[in-house]
This record gives sequence, structure tokens and C-alpha cells, in this order.
Amino acid sequence: MIYDKRNRANIDKLAYHTKQKALQWYEFCVKNNINILIYETIRDVKTQRENVKKGVSQTMKSYHLVGQALDFVPVNSKGQALWNGYNSKDIQKAIKEAKRLGFEWGGDWRDFKDKPHLQYNYKGYGTDTFTKPKNEHVSNNGTVDIDDLVKRTIRGEFGNGEERKRKLGKYYDEVQSIINGKKQNDSVNIDDLVKRTIRGEFGNGAERKKKLGKYYNEVQKRVNKYYE
Ligand SMILES: [Zn+2]
Repeated sequence: MIYDKRNRANIDKLAYHTKQKALQWYEFCVKNNINILIYETIRDVKTQRENVKKGVSQTMKSYHLVGQALDFVPVNSKGQALWNGYNSKDIQKAIKEAKRLGFEWGGDWRDFKDKPHLQYNYKGYGTDTFTKPKNEHVSNNGTVDIDDLVKRTIRGEFGNGEERKRKLGKYYDEVQSIINGKKQNDSVNIDDLVKRTIRGEFGNGAERKKKLGKYYNEVQKRVNKYYE
């Protein structure tokens, strides 16, 4: 990759989650020998205003302002920009991969085609952050370390109850089941579980069943006795 240094330096300026995705995409291009120059990522308000004036940009709500977009151009083996090269097989392959990763391509826009442009919506405009979020679960290579999440949960980093649920998001169930399993292995106090069930700590019905896991039957039997 001719412009490797420059490309990586520009990617590095992006907001956190966009950067992770952009890096994944860029590695795909490197691996497939697709030569590109990422010539712009983040843009300041002043530059954007000038771009709108010149007509090369249409909005002051540009994803570049919030670090969620990059502009790239195909280059040849001499490093010359190929501004008409977006339809080549390689570049189309790269664009397909970008979309698979969640990017929106400006070339798909109907009214104002912007072929160099890729933007990552994340949770909407301006939602990405520039610092690694405190409760981020994803490492730099994009994998999730469940063991690490379990440790941090036990340390109290994600709080309890609803807060924990929210912070762990889609990893909640997996982490929580490991933690529950650990507790059960440490020592199970059925009396305690019964008391806590009666207090409502494990909810009712299916929720209770899920939370009590393999202890459900035993606990439930005694809870029923309690109410007899
Ligand atoms: Zn752009």
C-alpha cells in the first residue's frame, strides 16, 4: 500500500467506533492489494463551511465533522489518484466490504453522489466518541473478551441490576450466566436462595426459572411450601 502511513494516520483521527470499522476495512484493502488513498477523515467546521460554499459538500451536518466519515480515492501503482476508478472490480469489492461492515457509501446517494465518501452511522449522527468508552467491551482487534468482562463485572465495574444490563448490552446474558455459575460452584446456600426468591429478587415465572437455573426446582419446591 503506497500511502499506508498517510492512510493510517488519517484513520487514526476518526472517532472511536468508526476508527475500528475503518481499520477493519483498510486491512481488507491491504490484504486484497486494493490501492487507495484515504485523503480526508475528520474535518473542522471552517473547512466544511468552505466546502459547502464551493458546492463540494451539501450540508453542515457532515459526518466528517464528528469523525464518522472518510474520503478515499483509488490510486494506481504510481500513486496517482484515479478519480474515475470507482467502478473497477477491486474498488467495487472494497465498497461491498465497507457496506458489510456497516458503512454507508456516498456513491449510493441518489441526489448528490459522493463516491469517495464512506460514513459510519454508529447510533446516528454525532454519536461516536473520541475516547475509548469506559465500559467498552471490544478490544482493538474487534473481539470480545468475555472472561475479562466477567472479572470486571465481579469487581463491580458495571454496577448491578438494570445498570449492569444496560452496560453489558448483548453480552449481559453470557456474562451473567458465567457469574451465576461461579457463585453456584463456590457454595450454594439453598436457604438463602429461598429467602431471596420470596423477597422477589429473582422475579417470577420464566425469569425466576432462568435466574435460578439448575436450583430452580429445589428452591421452588421450598418456596411453595412456605406459602402453604
Ligand atoms: Zn466525505
